[in-house]
Amino acid sequence: MSAVFFRNWRRRRLLARHPLDPQLWAAVCAGLPILAGLDDAEHQRLGELCLLFLHDKHLSALPGVELDDPARLRLAAQACLPLLHLPDLDWYQGFHQLLLYPEDFVSPQRHRDEAGIEHVWDDERSGEAWQQGPVILAWPGVQASGTLDGYNLVIHELAHKLDMLNGDANGLPPLHADMRLSDWTQAMQVAFDALNAELDGDPDAETAIDPYAAESPGEFFAVASEYFFSAPDLLHAAFPAVYAQLQAFYRQNPLPRLAPLTAALPAAAH
Ligand SMILES: [Zn+2]
Repeated sequence: MSAVFFRNWRRRRLLARHPLDPQLWAAVCAGLPILAGLDDAEHQRLGELCLLFLHDKHLSALPGVELDDPARLRLAAQACLPLLHLPDLDWYQGFHQLLLYPEDFVSPQRHRDEAGIEHVWDDERSGEAWQQGPVILAWPGVQASGTLDGYNLVIHELAHKLDMLNGDANGLPPLHADMRLSDWTQAMQVAFDALNAELDGDPDAETAIDPYAAESPGEFFAVASEYFFSAPDLLHAAFPAVYAQLQAFYRQNPLPRLAPLTAALPAAAH
């Protein structure tokens, strides 16, 4: 039995045995503005991806996190949205656990600078993705995700996981055969440099996207992915070449799908 055949067989059997509760799925979708405009086939496929995700990944909730079935499905829907039109591969391979913390957490950081001096500090985090390890999400950030404001902790951390498929989280996930590495690096570098130049000029500048994107190319890709799915109009207006590369990578175009909703938002609050 070939691996692909076995995977498809296992998948069909799993979906047949544990069908999605249609009422629950409809309620979860209705509560997630980032899913607006998906057609029936996309809703169906996203639901199947959620079932497989929840079957394959272990969600560990620490005390203080109320993880009921709707909350699990709501999290899965956001985790699986980026995969909706990707080829049928195991894009979230190499990790099995999502840890849900009740609050933001302190993460000890260590960095050796060019002079060889080691710096150690504590960083307050709402999420973390470990190479070949778990994804950690702080519950307030998960609960704040799903709207159209450019913030999505779930998509951010899972974008790091996609980035790590070919090594470090360096802002370069494995590109499809029809994409050009030079187009990707050019688009990302120009935008990353522009954002950093703006912040160098004024650290409090009202940047078009979250200034956290200027931290590193890896953070730029994760933040740009958040905007791509939850505020595509803002990303497209600020960095159209980045939008085009993410459209080629995720094989989706959220801009027209979400336009009826994003057009109605006041720019400042959006
Ligand atoms: Zn990050």
